[in-house]
Amino acid sequence: MTRTAAGRGHAVVLGAGIAGLLSARVLSGAFDGVTIVERDGDTTVGLVRRGVPQGAHLHGLLDGGRRIIEELHPGLTDELVAAGAADGEPLRDTSWYLHGRRLHATSTGLRSVLSTRPLLEQVLRARTAALPGVAFAPPATAVGLVRGPHGAVGGVRVRRATGEQTIDARLVVDASGRSSRLPAWLTTLGEPAPVEDRVDVDLAYATRLYRRRTDQLGGRLSVIVSTIPRSRGGGALAVEGDRWQVTLAGILGDAPPADAAGFTAWAATLPVPDIAELIADAEPVTDPVPFRFRGSRWRRYDRLPAPAAGVVAIGDAVCSVNPLYAQGMSLAAQQALVLREWLAAPGPLDAGSYYRALAPVCRRVWDIATRSDLALPEVDGTRPLLARVLDTYVRRVQLAAHRSPAVARAFLRVANLVDPPAALLAPAVLAAVLRPGATAPLPAARDHAGTRAR
Ligand SMILES: Cc1cc2nc3c(=O)[nH]c(=O)nc-3n(C[C@H](O)[C@H](O)[C@H](O)COP(=O)(O)OP(=O)(O)OC[C@H]3O[C@@H](n4cnc5c(N)ncnc54)[C@H](O)[C@@H]3O)c2cc1C
Repeated sequence: MTRTAAGRGHAVVLGAGIAGLLSARVLSGAFDGVTIVERDGDTTVGLVRRGVPQGAHLHGLLDGGRRIIEELHPGLTDELVAAGAADGEPLRDTSWYLHGRRLHATSTGLRSVLSTRPLLEQVLRARTAALPGVAFAPPATAVGLVRGPHGAVGGVRVRRATGEQTIDARLVVDASGRSSRLPAWLTTLGEPAPVEDRVDVDLAYATRLYRRRTDQLGGRLSVIVSTIPRSRGGGALAVEGDRWQVTLAGILGDAPPADAAGFTAWAATLPVPDIAELIADAEPVTDPVPFRFRGSRWRRYDRLPAPAAGVVAIGDAVCSVNPLYAQGMSLAAQQALVLREWLAAPGPLDAGSYYRALAPVCRRVWDIATRSDLALPEVDGTRPLLARVLDTYVRRVQLAAHRSPAVARAFLRVANLVDPPAALLAPAVLAAVLRPGATAPLPAARDHAGTRAR
């Protein structure tokens, strides 16, 4: 397929999740028309879709992702806030606990906009529907690919209750998520399919919504209790509709119960009491909902010597990481920028060059998520020497972030995918981390959100 200044033809996006909606945004300027194929019908406010069951659970939007989404859709952050999303500074308005102690409550220059996943998707979907040349097909399930006249992939087969249909496309973008069937479809066409990297953690979530009063949680907008260093953690976020979204999380098979009494009792076993205290004082508005996540998956399209022409994958369909680090939507946003650059570059649209540009973007979030998981001896995977040395340093960074505002700021900016990991090695951060006593534990309970605000 070659690029021409005009008459680029038609592109099809499979899936209207975050990756699909952002793909449609960058494709809309580059193709004459863009059709989004989604198996679920239109979303309603607050309704969790069948195709996105993870949407019932805490979905933190990292500031790195929010900034990209804002660039692609100026004003979207304000729209989210107008729709009821909470808006704050991550360390000041959140009690963030790692290793059972609160990170220093300093300013970071980051913005934390808190909503449920359905609200974010609803706002993004409305923006996408208003883009010139973008159309949502009537609900349909993509079931395979077809070849075009020049041997490249030239369209997609879709199925509805009324039968099957082919939609022709110069480019198919697979944004159908973690359960993407693209590798199998490529095999059916006789094209090479990717190998998959995996790191299993056997993560389990349970989530419940509560009525919110602003005097709860010491006036803060959220609390995050990391599973680092052991298996149990959780989060409570102020979300639209004056509600708390409370998610409990356990790894290595340590699953939070999905019955009301068990949920409350499990919350009381976390290393800090904030979440248990909050839910003891809040009225539930839903029952707990469970979710299982086996582990991180990276389909290595970048390793194929000659990936099929006419189709590319994006979002969880390529790289789906442990959600404890809240990176998935931001990774999808970063990938959308890679797609935009690829579309804008001169020369033929070569899928290989797209995947090569995507690989370092995936690598960064993959390393953040899987290196934390591999710190647990029970998790299977290779642990190269250099990675182990860096892990030891990152652990010191996390401990030093309890006392040092400079370290806390640097750590959170990297965790939010705003600054590169190398920022943790900046001289001021290095000096603060290596200072004697920098990693000595703070006294317990000194910093709990409800008892002592800093
Ligand atoms: C429990 C959990 C919690 C998470 N928490 C966070 C978080 O805090 N922060 C964060 O940034 N990320 C989080 N994530 C990750 C986040 O959900 C995804 O990474 C992000 O939504 C990008 O996914 P996607 O758009 O690629 O796929 P999805 O959001 O899964 O969307 C895929 C879409 O494709 C559709 N589809 C699938 N197959 C077909 C087909 N054959 N035909 C037509 N349509 C199809 C589906 O219906 C769906 O709409 C979490 C994930 C999980 C599992």
